[in-house]
Amino acid sequence: MNAKILDGKAIAKSVREDVARRAAELAARGTRPGLAVVLVGDDPASQVYVKNKDKAALEAGFAVRTLRKSATTTQAELLALVRQLNADSTVHGILVQLPLPKHLDAGAVVRAIDPAKDVDGLHPENVAKLVLGERGLFPCTPRGCIEICDRSGISLSGRRAVVVGRSMLVGKPLGFMLLARDATVTLCHSRTNDLPSVVRDAELVFAAVGKPELVRGDWIRPGATVIDVGINRLADGKLVGDVAFAEASARAGAITPVPGGVGPMTIAMLLDNTVIAAARAAGIELRAGPLAAGSAAVRA
Ligand code: NAD
Repeated sequence: MNAKILDGKAIAKSVREDVARRAAELAARGTRPGLAVVLVGDDPASQVYVKNKDKAALEAGFAVRTLRKSATTTQAELLALVRQLNADSTVHGILVQLPLPKHLDAGAVVRAIDPAKDVDGLHPENVAKLVLGERGLFPCTPRGCIEICDRSGISLSGRRAVVVGRSMLVGKPLGFMLLARDATVTLCHSRTNDLPSVVRDAELVFAAVGKPELVRGDWIRPGATVIDVGINRLADGKLVGDVAFAEASARAGAITPVPGGVGPMTIAMLLDNTVIAAARAAGIELRAGPLAAGSAAVRA
């Protein structure tokens, strides 16, 4: 079998077009979505991420403010900046680029962000809302995984989903999103016994581990959907995912490539979260995906 390639780049482009349309509608009604990106220090990877986020947000028609702070910024200064952005009614989304320099307490900074502006979906209040099935703002990368499935006609309801990885950024929120969509979810991690046989049972496999090509082709159930979140750079400079792509695509029904799969979705969903936050702040009802709006209810 040769798996269908799920083109994250093309899907992200259509999400971004959708976002730009909704941003224009909001602007026409007096609210131009505003995104503030805070970058502390000079980590080269973070500089690239922030540049890409700024560019995408500008293309979507947002007002973008990038606040660059030196690596010696104190916790008090950073908290004061977050409070200032919380109070600014032209800012609808606040993103503090992580990781922060070691002397800063990232958890305290995230908790200081107004949950209604927390477009990374990492504030404990938003984590609780995801678990409770309430309306909130939820993490971008797992939202991107769900959006790829939704826009590719891959159903989630009732199906056996295995998520490998339990981070607060990807694995755990993805598990709750899948549960909210009525999948039967198994969350695996570094201590899972016999991971290959757990994955073999899955109709939907989500890999978010950070270990190059950990998931082998013979772990994949024939016809399964494979969503690879991993981004790993090998010694020779090549980018690979957490799934052995060539082997897995010989058995899977559909699979995301790396690069060009989940990666481009993260920024697209950040823009989507910002437009949602702006619409809510303005009290304007816009169409949004089922997870953006929160699941209808937590079912028994
Ligand atoms: P993390 O290091 O925080 O978490 C990794 C998880 O994998 C942990 O829960 C751990 O228990 C599990 N794990 C580690 N070794 C394992 C093993 N041998 N078997 C099973 N589980 C194991 O990482 P993260 O932040 O969740 O990121 C995971 C991957 O996704 C990384 O490659 C990262 O670069 C990538 N990522 C991509 C995007 C994107 O935009 N596409 C965004 C975030 C993260």
